[in-house]
Amino acid sequence: MSTKTEQQTKTAVGSTRLVDTNMNMLEEHARELSGMGQDWKMYQWQCLPLGSMETQVYRVAGAVAPTKKTGPRKGETNWSKMDKATHREFYIKPDDHTQWMAEWEKKTDKCAECAGSGKTLRRWTQEDGAEYRPCRQCAGTGVSTTEVTHSAKN
Ligand SMILES: [Zn+2]
Repeated sequence: MSTKTEQQTKTAVGSTRLVDTNMNMLEEHARELSGMGQDWKMYQWQCLPLGSMETQVYRVAGAVAPTKKTGPRKGETNWSKMDKATHREFYIKPDDHTQWMAEWEKKTDKCAECAGSGKTLRRWTQEDGAEYRPCRQCAGTGVSTTEVTHSAKN
């Protein structure tokens, strides 16, 4: 049943499909749960159950790993040398994540939708990589909009 194209999609970046939430925020959430610092990074994520349109839970795995010092992939995280003692795996429910994002937004005053970057992922392809668009939630400012009233729009 599975064509070659489907096979490729399945092996892309350790994910079966694009997570329907900001991956930076998912990483940040998992990092907080791990109790570790900024050097703890997510290397694998999935929306479960696989193949379902609606996510029941996000599976996030991460660890602390060194960056590559040489070669064409210099500067990238070297997952083959990860510190196994820092390896953690979390199952985060979308509802819990939404709540966590709201609290993060209050705490940081940044827009949780785009993690304060002002842009969100439009699509991801193996050929072109990530393509971004301005964040709709904050209109590309990266600033929290929870305090802003709707009348301020006009
Ligand atoms: Zn935003």
